Amino acid sequence: MTRLGFIGLGIMGRGMAANLLEHGHDLTVWNRTPSKAQGLEANLVARSVDVGPASDVVFVSVSDTPDVEEVVFGDLGVIHGMTPGDVLVDHSTISPGATKGFAAQASELGVIWLDAPVSGGSEGAKRGTLAVMVGGDPVALERVRPFMDAYSKSVVHVGDEPGSGQMAKAVNQVLVVLNQLAVSEALLLAQGAGLDLKRALEAVEGGAAGSWMLSNRGPQMIERDWSPGFTIDLQQKDLRLVLEAADEVGVPVPGVALVFQLYRSLQAQGLGSEGNHALVKALEGLAGIRLGD
Ligand code: NAP
Repeated sequence: MTRLGFIGLGIMGRGMAANLLEHGHDLTVWNRTPSKAQGLEANLVARSVDVGPASDVVFVSVSDTPDVEEVVFGDLGVIHGMTPGDVLVDHSTISPGATKGFAAQASELGVIWLDAPVSGGSEGAKRGTLAVMVGGDPVALERVRPFMDAYSKSVVHVGDEPGSGQMAKAVNQVLVVLNQLAVSEALLLAQGAGLDLKRALEAVEGGAAGSWMLSNRGPQMIERDWSPGFTIDLQQKDLRLVLEAADEVGVPVPGVALVFQLYRSLQAQGLGSEGNHALVKALEGLAGIRLGD
């Protein structure tokens, strides 16, 4: 039986780990803040490196590129406890370029690296309906796909080249934030026109304008519930990755540049820990009206 390990029990990691346990898999876990493992029926270890000897496949879900580097390759990083032939699946959203380097470093130790960022929000992690975009060895992917199925509704191999999954995630984030901008503008227009916001949302969501963002975040925005499924700070991290990747390949992304600056204005107001749907607050400032008032 394949032994599984999980590193990083944040909003996403905890949901994915819970689904693996729910599907009957034994799991060894580590989180920097151990209290976040409370309530999970998993084998909690004291250091990241301790996950390695207890696992054949290690899943990682931490914040940013330097965090992956630390939990995997740092002095107490998990790679030092892994053995040749093991697979490391990185579910974090990080730099495609750095991912190539990480995969090469892992390969020198015989460990197979799959970059496998996810989409579907905190709800997707909890309900097991994530979309996973995977770069790396397709044979290794088939080994781990049955485990990913515990928390995903779609797992797509994007390319053999390490970093392909992260590049697909950059594409995903262009769609996410421009959708978020569209929902923000549309709801503010409805507000300005004096429409009932819930009715207006209901009227449009079943047609061509419907989207995950509108149906999931629209109602939260109307209620002025800014609790994060995904924080503005992490969203900005992703947009920085998109802008860097687009720059590298020479493709202009003017819409993303605009949204990056709007989020920057919210960070400057100390709102970085709010959900990314609080983007509407930047437009409220321009319009001089508030959603839901
Ligand atoms: P989160 O709730 O902030 O959790 C971050 C996790 O990373 C925590 O377990 C945190 O440990 C750990 N961590 C961060 N830096 C670390 C370090 N240097 N050393 C050790 N552990 C570290 O974030 P999240 O929303 O779960 O996001 C995780 C990843 O999934 C990110 O790359 C994010 O972009 C991506 N993602 C998120 C969403 C979403 O909707 N939330 C959707 C798709 C993808 P502590 O508990 O000790 O802080």
